[in-house]
Amino acid sequence: MSEMLTLALSKGRIFKETLPLLKAAGIEPIDDPETSRKLILDTNQPDVRLIIVRASDVPTYVEYGGADIGVAGKDVLLEHPTAELYEPVDLNIACCKLMTAGKVEESDIKVRLKVATKFVESTRRFYAEQGQQVDIIKLYGSMELAPLVGLADRIVDVVDTGNTLRANGLVPMEHIADISSRLVVNKASMKMKHVRIQAFIDGVRAAVAEQRDD
Ligand code: AMP
Repeated sequence: MSEMLTLALSKGRIFKETLPLLKAAGIEPIDDPETSRKLILDTNQPDVRLIIVRASDVPTYVEYGGADIGVAGKDVLLEHPTAELYEPVDLNIACCKLMTAGKVEESDIKVRLKVATKFVESTRRFYAEQGQQVDIIKLYGSMELAPLVGLADRIVDVVDTGNTLRANGLVPMEHIADISSRLVVNKASMKMKHVRIQAFIDGVRAAVAEQRDD
């Protein structure tokens, strides 16, 4: 019997944009995760299954071996520094930027900024590199609200078109990182299932290269 390969994915944009890459690598889920309530999805390959987890949990599942491989945004990976994951392929999907943002007209420039974000690690590193001391306020969503109600002076969030910021009277300010989804691989799996996983990585890499050329 061949060894089972478990892939961790999150629903929504990452799943939709990963599907064509998986298909090019010969893997197609049997159920649609957007309509199915199943958290483990079989695929056309009996030895490959998909597990559906929260985007921010993908690195944890892969790090501890709950999945061999995962697809995670760089924004999520930057919040989860670990030596236990390989990051072999930039999938070039779900691209956006991690940025600071603030009100179009800031009333008074504070000595010590209050920055609201769910990206605490990236924010801490960014301001530390600038040599700027800030107070970071952890939020789990709707960060755009924070400057509008005086909770914070700035936010750090992922920005794609900038429409969400503009709709809330905010403007993007400093660029922190370019974000895209990455393939991540558990280091022990890479050793134990090397041939299988290397073939999968090669298949996905080829599919990404083809998409870039389109
Ligand atoms: P936009 O209005 O196009 O700048 O999109 C901004 C909002 O969409 C952000 O607040 C995020 O919640 C979400 N978003 C856009 N792109 C991504 C991405 N690649 N990964 C995760 N969230 C994203």
